[in-house]
Parts: sequence; C-alpha cells; structure tokens
Amino acid sequence: MNTEIVKISADDSAEKYEYAVELLKNNQVVGMPTETVYGLAGNAYSELAVKRIFEAKGRPQDNPLIVHISEFSEIYDLVSEVPDIAKKLSEKFWPGPLTMILPKSEKVPMCVTAGLDSVAVRCPSHPVARNLIKNCGLPIAAPSANISGKPSPTKAEHVFSDLNGKIPLVIDGGESEEGVESTVISLCGEIPKLLRPGNVTLTELEMVCGKVLVDDAVLNPLKEGEKVSSPGMKYKHYSPNAEATILKGDYKSFCDYVNENKSDETYAMVFDGEGENLEVKYFTYGNKNDYRSLSNRLFDCLRELDTIGAKKCFVRCPEENTDDLAVLNRLLRAAAFRVIDLGDKK
Ligand code: AMP
Ligand code: MG
Repeated sequence: MNTEIVKISADDSAEKYEYAVELLKNNQVVGMPTETVYGLAGNAYSELAVKRIFEAKGRPQDNPLIVHISEFSEIYDLVSEVPDIAKKLSEKFWPGPLTMILPKSEKVPMCVTAGLDSVAVRCPSHPVARNLIKNCGLPIAAPSANISGKPSPTKAEHVFSDLNGKIPLVIDGGESEEGVESTVISLCGEIPKLLRPGNVTLTELEMVCGKVLVDDAVLNPLKEGEKVSSPGMKYKHYSPNAEATILKGDYKSFCDYVNENKSDETYAMVFDGEGENLEVKYFTYGNKNDYRSLSNRLFDCLRELDTIGAKKCFVRCPEENTDDLAVLNRLLRAAAFRVIDLGDKK
C-alpha cells in the first residue's frame, strides 16, 4: 500500500478533509494529528476499522483504544451514564489532553474496549483532529500511531517512518504541542483514579475532583500476576533500540558516571544548559523546571536515538513531583525501569 502524507492546517476548508473522511467512512485507518501525540484513527463503530488499527500497530488485543469525539454532547452515545464529575472535568479540561474512563454503552463494540465494560473517551483540542471527527460524524478510535512498544509519534514523519506501506494516509497537522499522551482518569470507581499521567496534572485534577487515587502502575513495574487497571501499562513501551538508563542525582555525579561507563555509541539525554564535561554526545530534552518543555521533546529525542544508531543512553532524571509524573512515567518504561541512584554529592 502506498502511504500518502497530506498537510492540513487549522483554517483549511472542509474540502481538504474529503479524502480522509472518505477513507474513515470506508473503514480504513488514517494517521491523525492531535495536541498530545499523533493517533491512528478509525471508525469506532466498525469492527473492521478497529481490527485494522490493531494490525497496523501490532498492538496486543487486550489493550483498549481511546475513542475521540469533537464535542462533549457526543459522549452520550458512547457511555451508559455521565456522572457530574465527568461534566465538571470536561468543562475544565475539554477540549484537551484528558481521557475519561466511564461505563460503556451498548453501541461501542467490545473490540474497542478489549472486552472491558468501560470505555475511554477524549475530546482533543487540535483543530484538525476536531474538524476531521466533525466532518466524519463518527466517534474515532485512535491509539498512538506508532508500532507498539516504540516511542509515540509527535510528528507526521514519525508516523510515516513506523507505518509506511501499512496505512493509506497520514495527515500532517504540524508537531504535537503537548508531546506526551493524554492523562487517563477512571471515573468507574467511588473515587476517581489516575491511570496514566499526562499534561493535565494530578494537582489540576484534584482541584476539580477533590481526592484522586494514583494507580500503582504509574511509577512502578507490575508485580508478577498483578491485575492492571490500565492494560496499556503492562507492556514494554516507548522504547528506543538503545538500552536507556535513568540516573538519579546531581549533574556532577551524572557526568562522572557516564564518563566512567561509556562505551561505543553511548549518548546522554540531559536538561537544557547541560552537556559540559560530558565525554559522550548528548541531546537536551528540555528545561529542568518546566515539565511541559520536557514532555514536548521527550519522544522526539527517544526516536532520534534510533535514527543515529545509539546503543546506550544515560538519562537525567526529572524531579519527582506531581507535575512531572508524565515524563517520569514514560522514561521509566523507555528504560524498562533501569534506574541508578547516584546519591547527591553537592
Ligand atoms: P494509547 O491510545 O496507545 O495511548 O493507549 C490508550 C491507553 O488508555 C492505554 O494505556 C489503555 O490501557 C488505556 N485505556 C483505554 N481504555 C481503557 C479502559 N476502558 N479502562 C482502562 N484503561 C483504558
Ligand atoms: Mg500508545
């Protein structure tokens, strides 16, 4: 299959979307820009489209998809009840990078939710994603548009590099602004529970919901046989080919460790302004004190490691505060939970 890339911008007319809309209505799948990461879009009501999504990505069958809508009102088709807290959260964070898990309606096929009786719903803020969904008049199932296990795509060219030949179209709507996937919150239990951190932070959620539980899998590897709340958390994720290791501690200890332990094709991922005294090549992945700048460049840096053929990468560890959970959560998985604490020698 030939994979086309078509650029669409916020103020393009409906005609620009016609080809993509036709594909989606015919149960084909399409690379779609969103503000979090690029999604692999398909008609959420079509078992064939959903099957194509799983096949193109090589996604395990038990990992459910997020369904995207263009307006809050469309949620009523997808879920069997809309609690007040869902309304409040949507007023504050939609359109935007928040996914809510709610009891599913009959209309949502089981293949979308991987057999669960709940469904994940999000209204993205990216104007091209919203227009596409609106013009289709369908809810759109869309996981991240990467090959399963690889870092998520934040640029159309990332999608092309993973899925070239497997899908007919990638819509290029520019670089994803947020750079990490949406925050996922479950509203199925008595107390809301954070299943995946994203750029809507725990603090922001607590301001609307009061108490919010944090799923154990957010910052910890799963224990043998443990039941997961968010099936996506159990898989190897976001991984570059290089063996990544997170080093906790101050910058001086980081440099000493990397310089002593470097071998061929070793790289470092450090914060803006760092790099001095390192005897290996390095990338900067953002401002240490600004989690949004870190999330923005994270996946691009992880993909860059593959492009240049890195074999090892040592990564500076972001602060463990509630705002930075998203970056740390992705890095821990990219590094398969390899973390070395160097202590603080300041
Ligand atoms: P992705 O779209 O690839 O970023 O992954 C979607 C994430 O949402 C995965 O980690 C899923 O486990 C999670 N998810 C989707 N639907 C549900 C659901 N019904 N219950 C719990 N987690 C879900
Ligand atoms: Mg994903």
